[in-house]
Amino acid sequence: MTHRAIRSKQFGEFLALAKAKKDRSTMKDATEKMGELSNIPYDKLTAAQKRGRLITKLITRAYDPNEYVIWHSLFMPSEIFYGMGMVPFSTEMVSAGLAGAGLSKGLVEMGEMYTQCMDSCSFSTCTIGAITSDVFPIPDFLITTSQLCDPEKKLGRFASENYKRKDFFIDIPYGGCLLEGDAYDTAVDYVAKQLEYMVAFFERETGMKLDNEKLARALDNSNKAREWFLKIDELRANNPALIKGTKILDFSAVLLDIWGSEEAVDIFKTLHDELVESAAKGGMSEQYRIGWIHLRPYYDNTIINYLEEECGAYIVKEEINYIFWEAHDLNDPFRSIARKVLANPAYSPLTVKNKIYSDVIKKFRLDGMFGFAHKGCRHFYSSLHIASDSFKGKCPFIVIDGDCVDPRAYSFPLIKTRVDSFVDTMKIRKEGM
Ligand code: SF4
Repeated sequence: MTHRAIRSKQFGEFLALAKAKKDRSTMKDATEKMGELSNIPYDKLTAAQKRGRLITKLITRAYDPNEYVIWHSLFMPSEIFYGMGMVPFSTEMVSAGLAGAGLSKGLVEMGEMYTQCMDSCSFSTCTIGAITSDVFPIPDFLITTSQLCDPEKKLGRFASENYKRKDFFIDIPYGGCLLEGDAYDTAVDYVAKQLEYMVAFFERETGMKLDNEKLARALDNSNKAREWFLKIDELRANNPALIKGTKILDFSAVLLDIWGSEEAVDIFKTLHDELVESAAKGGMSEQYRIGWIHLRPYYDNTIINYLEEECGAYIVKEEINYIFWEAHDLNDPFRSIARKVLANPAYSPLTVKNKIYSDVIKKFRLDGMFGFAHKGCRHFYSSLHIASDSFKGKCPFIVIDGDCVDPRAYSFPLIKTRVDSFVDTMKIRKEGM
């Protein structure tokens, strides 16, 4: 296939770009030590290293001319892709990695030259920059959904036209997790049917057939990984902080497209075992327990390091690591995946999220909530500010405006006073001073 032949050249361009900017990287472990890591026996790797190795493997496979590569929207369940032996590629997650590798500023600026817009989601703008710079692997197909991420649909169409590759769109009903009875069953059927059409589309285009046993294995892997993650939640709820915030936020469990892979089971089991060990040693010397909402600035760790190391305010639960779906039913794969998609609380009225925040505050014994509002996100930006109003007088709740990918929109010295006052509020509430 001619389109795939250029992936090797694109990989070369990507590596050259990464090398040129490596001094800006916040992820030296993941980038510079990758060669070193590949020499460590697998069972000696930490959970974060195993995750890093898997993501590197997936990204490397995405540049392989022999692989079927699917670009997909965030929140698109990856289990079907593993069931079909295809390589999932989430441009948003890779953009977060690019920010950590110090590459996002230049790519966002490139993207803005095309979009002529500085206030849309920089995850997408960074992707536009990566497309126009030709450093991303050309996909075989693109799958976009109506769930969240407004720029995603336009981005999908732009990439589809740019690369001359076909895209497939899936419509997800809003507020699926609030539906009941017949309305819920109809929504499940509606999404499940579209997933079946998507598989039929793949089969028609590639001549491949969905292997039902492989799909069942992917769903089983997903269920096992989910079980380990729920155990991690229990441990964290009942112990002092057990892991650094930057590390646990990078697991971004609900966004990672590793659900369905065998490695994901082992990664979350390893993470669980590490936290058991940390608990046995007494965990971190936390003074305050905080919940983190939305993502973090990937190009800079200052804010989280300051909270934890200087103020003793540790992140003990993250919205992005909140498992909102039930275990898959292996005998009913499409409806089961549809139920997972519909359960997403981020694509529903704010009352759903506020209820989850209240439950999490209670379960994880939080002293405060910290929201990092990504300025270009039409969903999370406004909802975070409204949520913080709803919690006035109930729980200290700070929202810091910034950008997860674009370093131009964030400056720690400018927000430090507000962070200090948030910590003071937690202190007063806790110690009654
Ligand atoms: S920040 Fe918002 S719009 Fe951007 S990728 Fe995330 S959910 Fe989508």
